[in-house]
Amino acid sequence: MTMAQAKNITILGSTGSIGVQTLQVIEESQGFFNLLYLTANTNIDLLAKQITKFKPKGVVITDYKSYLQFKKMYNFDIELYYGEEGLCEVASSRENELVVSALVGFAGVLPTITALEAGKNIALANKETLVSAGEYISKLAKNNNANIIAIDSEHNAIIQCLLGEDITKVEKIFLTASGGPFLNSDHNNFESVKINEALAHPRWSMGKKISIDSATLMNKGFEVIEAHWLFNLQPDQIEVVIHPESIVHSLVQFVDGSVKAQLGPQDMRIPISFALNFPERFPYNFPRLDLLSVGSLNFHSPDTAKFPCLKLAYEALAMGGTAPAVLNASNEMAVESFLGGRISFAKIPICISYALEKVNHLENPTINDIFETDKLTREITNEFINKLLN
Ligand code: NAD
Ligand code: MG
Repeated sequence: MTMAQAKNITILGSTGSIGVQTLQVIEESQGFFNLLYLTANTNIDLLAKQITKFKPKGVVITDYKSYLQFKKMYNFDIELYYGEEGLCEVASSRENELVVSALVGFAGVLPTITALEAGKNIALANKETLVSAGEYISKLAKNNNANIIAIDSEHNAIIQCLLGEDITKVEKIFLTASGGPFLNSDHNNFESVKINEALAHPRWSMGKKISIDSATLMNKGFEVIEAHWLFNLQPDQIEVVIHPESIVHSLVQFVDGSVKAQLGPQDMRIPISFALNFPERFPYNFPRLDLLSVGSLNFHSPDTAKFPCLKLAYEALAMGGTAPAVLNASNEMAVESFLGGRISFAKIPICISYALEKVNHLENPTINDIFETDKLTREITNEFINKLLN
């Protein structure tokens, strides 16, 4: 068998949960990938370990203090870049064949834009990019003939269900949701939820921000918006179903009433490996699904009175324009404040509703308007949070 040439790959956010698992997939890929660049925000010790092990061509450190610290502590013979500029530089590097965006939050938007402008294919974990700037990003991908392959397990599942299908024959899709740690808790107690309780996701081990988003169900709301842009579906064609076992990763219903689902163990390395190797499949020894030990699968509808964030996301999608960017930015501020012990879990949706009402709405924003809206929303949400504290 002749081995195809190794695929040049860059991982934005290699020190995060998705980044680390992407490196595990690459390690298991028997030389099929050639690692170009890795990036970290503050975790320079892990980055140094990754450099020693994976020998990339270069790295980016986005936090200034960490960048200086790294220069002082380590002396690797590789390219070293700093900040957002560095991220954009490596994301658009001519040599890239695939860029994995595993950054968290709005910080992922600009590097994704530069990668797409350079015509690079993206394996996208960073859903906040599509939430905030979905229209611009999907047009940019189309105009530059670049593919966006979602790593998010639900969207990855939909892509797999759509293989060989005509997208115009899709009636609707079902995005499954585990329901998060508070699926069965009384929401009258949401004022007193502790940070570690909110971080304790029952099914997946993930970064802190997405863990909180999963507890509020904002993560699922973001995924509705993500699906809207990835698959060009209307909001009423995207239904959320609570599925506590997290075995069915999502489903597609076609115009003839047939439904296809993708199933698998709860292991992000499976959707990551699919996105990395697309359109091929590569053999991996990740855990297999044991249906008999799962026994039964349950499905029920989400309670949006208990989890208002999901409803807010549908509302922002219906409003269109800058509303999803406001949703995302106010959520980032609220989650950060919750994790910092400044506001209660119950206040997260209140901050987001406030921002959606207060921030000036633009119906047909340019990408600059999106960046401005992101900034303004953070200011307005912060002021609101300060008021809550007084
Ligand atoms: P994480 O917090 O574990 O990792 C985030 C990465 O981004 C780290 O490498 C960090 O250094 C970097 N980073 C953080 N802030 C940054 C900034 N301001 N500028 C530049 N880099 C910065 O997060 P994660 O759980 O790996 O999630 C990453 C993305 O993938 C998120 O958008 C999340 O919603 C999505 N996602 C994650 C999972 C999962 O299982 N973890 C599943 C589906 C989707
Ligand atoms: Mg998901």
